[in-house]
Amino acid sequence: MQSTQEIKNKDSQFIMQTYGRFPVAIAKGEGAKVYSPEGKEYIDFTSGIGVCSVGYGNKAWAEAIYEQALTLGHISNLYYTEPSVRLAERLCTISGMSNVFFSNSGAESNEGAIKLARKYSRDKYGEGRHKIITLYQSFHGRTVTTLAATGQDVFHTNFFPFTEGFSHVPANDFEALLGEVDETTCAIMMELVQGEGGVLPLEREFVKKVRALCDERDILLIIDEVQTGIGRCGKLFAFMEYGILPDVATTAKGIAGGLPMGAVFANEKTKNVLTAGTHATTFGANPICSAAANKVLDILEGGVLDEVSAKGDYIREKIEAMDLAVVKGTRGLGLMIGVVVPEGEHKAYASKLIDAGLLCITAGRDAIRFLPPLTITYEEIDLGLKIFETVMKEAK
Ligand SMILES: *Cc1c(COP(=O)(O)O)cnc(C)c1O
Repeated sequence: MQSTQEIKNKDSQFIMQTYGRFPVAIAKGEGAKVYSPEGKEYIDFTSGIGVCSVGYGNKAWAEAIYEQALTLGHISNLYYTEPSVRLAERLCTISGMSNVFFSNSGAESNEGAIKLARKYSRDKYGEGRHKIITLYQSFHGRTVTTLAATGQDVFHTNFFPFTEGFSHVPANDFEALLGEVDETTCAIMMELVQGEGGVLPLEREFVKKVRALCDERDILLIIDEVQTGIGRCGKLFAFMEYGILPDVATTAKGIAGGLPMGAVFANEKTKNVLTAGTHATTFGANPICSAAANKVLDILEGGVLDEVSAKGDYIREKIEAMDLAVVKGTRGLGLMIGVVVPEGEHKAYASKLIDAGLLCITAGRDAIRFLPPLTITYEEIDLGLKIFETVMKEAK
């Protein structure tokens, strides 16, 4: 096996240097623990940015993939397959959404949602009603269109011209949103807990008002659940925690437990907008990804989902009780947690935690972000929190 140093060297020579990687290579994992090529153990509070929802080396998940690969690994979307319809039925039944288009990533799912919203409006109202309002500190993806949708100026560089027709307002500011809505508006798109932006949950009152406004003006409410979805926040989707039903919802990251998959959900009002020939993707609902996602749902329904909120509360209560000088508090929902430290210092703390054996990432300007596997045990949580406490106590 190549050493971490050898891997780093090859990476810098042969892979485009688009990631600000931590100086760590990971070779294998089990449960919520991962290991470097040299055998250094880490407790993983990231699950690959909320992807490995059922942990590493999950046997049931791996066997589902293996069995499906032996049976039928792929077939064109011009033919029907059972794993995809099983998955679609389950996801729609639990969430209350009506139907789904399967894609391969979060950005692509949001592209699909944006296409759906613009077509809905054009079909019904004709040209010119295409504006989509999103929130500051949002993150919706890295394609040219989803970068335009993302409400952070740092992303609006380099790749001009961006797709037109997006504007941004501050989160939780209903008056500002109202001021931005006009006759050209077709949709409002937002995350219920802004992930990349800092693990910032939207206020429930604001979300309810936006839902009502969208109903009143026939504007589509698109909820980006790429990070919050598939159990991360305690229910299958965060919109279920908030008690609303969106017109369109997207998800990706954790849906297939580590294989690339995304989804665009429509409700009764929007379910017939994307018609034959208007949207497609070669790999969408690939049987292997669908089988993996069905297994993720089996595992979540087998008791894992019921414990997400309690585990999230446990982590946050433990951290608050440590009474650390450098920790200003915690934010989040379920197992999507931001630990707030002084602005600008989050990356330095994350590096220290990783050095000490706790994998974590950052978010926004001031948060250390934890997105552990949903299957993490209390024993693994305690091991991670012990490292956290030791490092943060020494920090100042
Ligand atoms: C990660 C993320 C995306 C982009 O997903 P990709 O799979 O990287 O394209 C979009 N929206 C949110 C909220 C995300 O967290």
